[in-house]
Amino acid sequence: MSKAILNELSFQLMLDSTPGSLILVNEDGYIVYVNRSTENLFQYQREELIGQKIELLIAAKFSGHHPELRNGFFDKIQSRAMGKGRDLYARKKGGEEFPVEIGLNPLITVQGKMVIASVIDITERKISEDQFKMAVQSTPNGIVVIDKKGIITMVNNQTLKMFGYSEEELLGNSIDMLVPSSIKKQHVHYRNDFNEKPEMRSMGIGRDLYALNKNGTEFPVEIGLSPFESHSGSKVLASIIDITARKKDESDLQNYMEQLTIKNEEIKNFSYIVSHDLKEPVKSLNGIIKLLEFELGKNVDNNIKEYLIHINRSTTRMERLITDLLDYSKIGMEKTRSEVNCDLLVASVLEDLSGLIQKNNAKITVSKLGVINAYETELRLLFQNLINNAIKFRNSENPTVQITCNKDKNGLIFSIEDNGIGIAPENQSKIFEIFSRLHSKDEFEGTGIGLAHCKKIVELHNGWIKIESELGKGSKFTFCLNQS
Ligand code: ADP
Repeated sequence: MSKAILNELSFQLMLDSTPGSLILVNEDGYIVYVNRSTENLFQYQREELIGQKIELLIAAKFSGHHPELRNGFFDKIQSRAMGKGRDLYARKKGGEEFPVEIGLNPLITVQGKMVIASVIDITERKISEDQFKMAVQSTPNGIVVIDKKGIITMVNNQTLKMFGYSEEELLGNSIDMLVPSSIKKQHVHYRNDFNEKPEMRSMGIGRDLYALNKNGTEFPVEIGLSPFESHSGSKVLASIIDITARKKDESDLQNYMEQLTIKNEEIKNFSYIVSHDLKEPVKSLNGIIKLLEFELGKNVDNNIKEYLIHINRSTTRMERLITDLLDYSKIGMEKTRSEVNCDLLVASVLEDLSGLIQKNNAKITVSKLGVINAYETELRLLFQNLINNAIKFRNSENPTVQITCNKDKNGLIFSIEDNGIGIAPENQSKIFEIFSRLHSKDEFEGTGIGLAHCKKIVELHNGWIKIESELGKGSKFTFCLNQS
């Protein structure tokens, strides 16, 4: 066997044993040799291919201008990938087209210049890439994929909208074009640090992050980083959320809160000043009525007497209302909490209410209550209002009132339960509103401020108050006071 034949045979053997598809093409575009993998991949017999133009194996869409490209290759012959940056498709014997990656390697032979094309079927990879692209497109966040050098290799539509660039303007360029100039320098360091220890994490924890859009405007962002391996090397997927609206909402909320605090303070001061200032004229009105009664003496007309009694009642009621309103506006003015012994506090409230208790023949039972860190004056008012109501809103039976206490992990929960007139379910939420009463003053005396007081006091202690009641069967008020 001649040496040339031997060489050719060993060359063929070598090509055949290569797992990938290899095609040897001459300068005129004719297939000179194909290996076994090519037969399998393209479903042709070797004899059917040798001597055919290579365009036979190229998808119809590309085969038209392929001869030109082929000539270009032989003019400037060098190893390179074919159709870089474009999706390439090859064609099988049956006409089926499939995505491929092709490497071109020049070969100078005695028969002239040739090229060995190595063809890789990338159908599987393309499917997963397409799925990845679809997932990236469908997320509401901006997604930017960069390589280790910070070059943008993929973006989704949301990114284009967010930054105002077209896809062509971003792909192949450095991620730095989306980074504000003030942090560009540090950003390179951050990127290097990340590359050294790539892990899924948020970017810039503890820092306010800003991005730069095409028209030079910086906007606040939140960025999540996920490293991954792709066929073309290590990449990082940056998921970007434009938080301009959220930041604005936060700052609006902060402004509203500040304004609300100022307004609340104003209202508090206003009701305090108004009720305080109203007290004096009402007092002098009472004085004048007394003087008038005295001046008119005993011989006064019965009608006038009646009028004076009415005026007197009204001014007394007005005085009571003003006092209650003043007390209401004062709640929370005492700024310090202290250790309050609730057993002693309730005992002293009951002593103050002893007249009312005796008059109504009321039976009060108090269980062990305990000590709590609280605003003492307010706490006293709270018990006083609830016990007073429990006796006042009685029915024909003698009032019985039970005061109990349970411990909670944050503080104490107290209950005051009576056997009085009860409250219908539809009225239960109204009673805590200021000036809200369910009865006329002729049925039960009062101003409708007591429970509003109670609500304000428990809120001052970061607690809550609720009622459980059945009309005609009594009521149970339960409130919780938090220790701090
Ligand atoms: P006031 O006692 O001055 O009327 P409150 O604010 O203390 O005002 O109470 C509001 C209303 O809630 C009362 O008018 C009454 O109708 C109802 N209420 C309060 N406590 C009781 C109770 N223990 N039993 C039945 N009704 C009650």
